[in-house]
Amino acid sequence: MKKENPSAPFEPRFERDGKDFLVSGFAGGLLRLSARDFAAFKAGRARAGTPLFKKLEAAGLLRGRLDLDGLAAGAAGLARGAWTGPGLHILVLTLRCNHSCVYCRATAAGNGAGGLMTAATARRAVDTAFSSPNPEITIEFQGGEALLNWAVLKDAALYAKKLNRRAGKDLRLTVVTNLSVMDEEKFAFLVKEGISVCTSLDGPAELHNANRRWSGGSSHATAVRWLNKFKAAAARDGSADSLPSALMTTTRRSLPLAAEIVEEYRGLGLGGIFLRPLSPIGYAAGVWPEIGYGPEEFLAFYRAALARVMRINYAGERFVERNAALLARKLLRAEDPNYLDLRSPCGAAIGQLAYNWDGGVYTCDEGRMVAACGDEAFRLGRAGETCAALLARPAARVCAMASCLEAQSYCERCAFKPFCGVCPVHNYCTQGSPAGDIAAGGWCALQKGLFKTVFKLLENKRARAVVEGWLGGGSAA
Ligand code: SF4
Ligand code: SF4
Repeated sequence: MKKENPSAPFEPRFERDGKDFLVSGFAGGLLRLSARDFAAFKAGRARAGTPLFKKLEAAGLLRGRLDLDGLAAGAAGLARGAWTGPGLHILVLTLRCNHSCVYCRATAAGNGAGGLMTAATARRAVDTAFSSPNPEITIEFQGGEALLNWAVLKDAALYAKKLNRRAGKDLRLTVVTNLSVMDEEKFAFLVKEGISVCTSLDGPAELHNANRRWSGGSSHATAVRWLNKFKAAAARDGSADSLPSALMTTTRRSLPLAAEIVEEYRGLGLGGIFLRPLSPIGYAAGVWPEIGYGPEEFLAFYRAALARVMRINYAGERFVERNAALLARKLLRAEDPNYLDLRSPCGAAIGQLAYNWDGGVYTCDEGRMVAACGDEAFRLGRAGETCAALLARPAARVCAMASCLEAQSYCERCAFKPFCGVCPVHNYCTQGSPAGDIAAGGWCALQKGLFKTVFKLLENKRARAVVEGWLGGGSAA
């Protein structure tokens, strides 16, 4: 009988990185191999007992040395969120807004033209959220400018808390706001009810105000004033949950200002930054030639900003870059950080639902934005229906199938497959189909660049210690 070669390779997924090869197994275990080691690995010539053999064995890449329980645990860890049910419920309280941002998430048509969600619709949306089997529910109030529908926000928040007295879920309430119509009464209510606040902050005043146009004054100064006030309230409470947060949108104008943007977040004591690329979805698609950029341009910006973040950390100050933290959680710990846009299948419908002001329910906020531009491809149904009913609708199934990397032939041999995800809405908007052509689209180039950047960072001992400190025991991302 033929003796099995213990070095026989297992599913070699690989990606070139300069002269080297990055390889991974069924449940992660990303490794860098020189061209020579890669050739030995592929040919099944790694000799037992050598450092190469041990590396490959530990990563689950040798057919004769598989730890099946370990691999199953790794794969389950990376896909943890796929079967919990929708946890994020985005209530778009209105499309009205007093800003005219260059990338307008609400869509241009929303500025003044959209209606207000009624209290009855908001309650129905909350009923849908509580029909989810997920024990952790986040209800996020959004707009347009969510505070322009204050009475409904208050009512829906209190209604959710009332339902939760019976349901006993881990309930989080949050509002995404530009803070321009914040006042003492709203501030007191949000603090008292533990509703966390997230605002947009694109960087220093000049950049922020150029992106986020407001005729009522300086959008930046107003956001910073209230951010500081919420921070002070959280410090008095001693509650990390009530700390305000900020999200930046990277436009072409941001690209030369990587260090300045990082320093703005640091100076405001925000503890970190989430460096995200802009997607050509909804209104942003229409103004892409003016504000957009290619994957390489974003990656250059990202690397410059990340270098600044690391310098801050090396000088002894903890300052988290959340995108790197998300990827590191996958790469180092084979854990799912519950980031809905980068998992397989993605979080459309099965992880989140977006409720438009008129009661329409969509796979995600991006799907809702496509509808705001006149295309209902990602509509699931109406607020008040159960999650089970909504998840059975065609748009939910299409998104799950299109974003499941097992169904993407181009991803099959990619070293980043165990950690990656694709976006059906992005594919649909840029290539005309939810499945898309992954090889030809910008999404893949961007993800590959981010994985390579973060993996390289983690290969440096000092940097890895910093990033592990970000992850701590809980979720840094
Ligand atoms: S379709 Fe795209 S935006 Fe929507 S949840 Fe999936 S990855 Fe995220
Ligand atoms: S999208 Fe690109 S980076 Fe992600 S798994 Fe597929 S081929 Fe790899």
